[in-house]
Amino acid sequence: MIIIQLSIRQEKIVEIVKMNQPITSEQIACKLDITRAALRPDLSVLTMMGILDARPKVGYFYTGMAQNNFILQKISDIMVEDIMSLPIVVNEQTTLYDTIVTLFLEDVGTIYVNTNGSLCGVVSRKDLLKSIIGGTDINKIPVGMVMTRKPIVTIKKGENVIVAANRIIEYEIDSLPVIEDYYEDGYSKQRVIGRISKSNITKLFVELCKS
Ligand code: ADP
Repeated sequence: MIIIQLSIRQEKIVEIVKMNQPITSEQIACKLDITRAALRPDLSVLTMMGILDARPKVGYFYTGMAQNNFILQKISDIMVEDIMSLPIVVNEQTTLYDTIVTLFLEDVGTIYVNTNGSLCGVVSRKDLLKSIIGGTDINKIPVGMVMTRKPIVTIKKGENVIVAANRIIEYEIDSLPVIEDYYEDGYSKQRVIGRISKSNITKLFVELCKS
């Protein structure tokens, strides 16, 4: 039997649910002394693996079914950093024309936008098409004028690929910037270190079918 590698926190969550089921995410977060937002990625991994079951307005139950789920067993220890691609990044001041050229040259669908080295926006194919249809002077207008600003949906390199796939579906977007937090001048900022897109997930799917 293949043993699923859970993180220490995930194991703690499973133990808490086993002992207290049904239990709400607020109650689990309270027992672990963390916020619900911090708990969410672990809960989504555990429910997608079938180890926990969530029933609306009731709470979480332990099912322990993951042992039978071969695909999840294979994916459970594949992290974002194992499948991410290089991010394609332009500066906020880059013109729309140069951004479109970058999109073609780098063969990507989404470009991330930085200001002074930290992530400040995302621009997709359709964002660029919209600006062209609207008659914008693409040689003059900077990408910062048409990009999507915060909140940007992101992921960290140490998160599970199941969480990344789930986030892409939940927010109906094509890719997630992989970010690293850092502090500068007393502010918390985000540096882009990778990109995870529907293509990365599809490639992984094909690889898993081969193995
Ligand atoms: P397209 O618009 O080409 O279909 P997407 O579905 O990825 O591509 O993007 C839909 C919208 O969501 C766009 O306006 C885009 O700027 C925005 N968007 C894309 N990725 C992200 C992200 N990671 N975080 C926040 N917004 C995003």
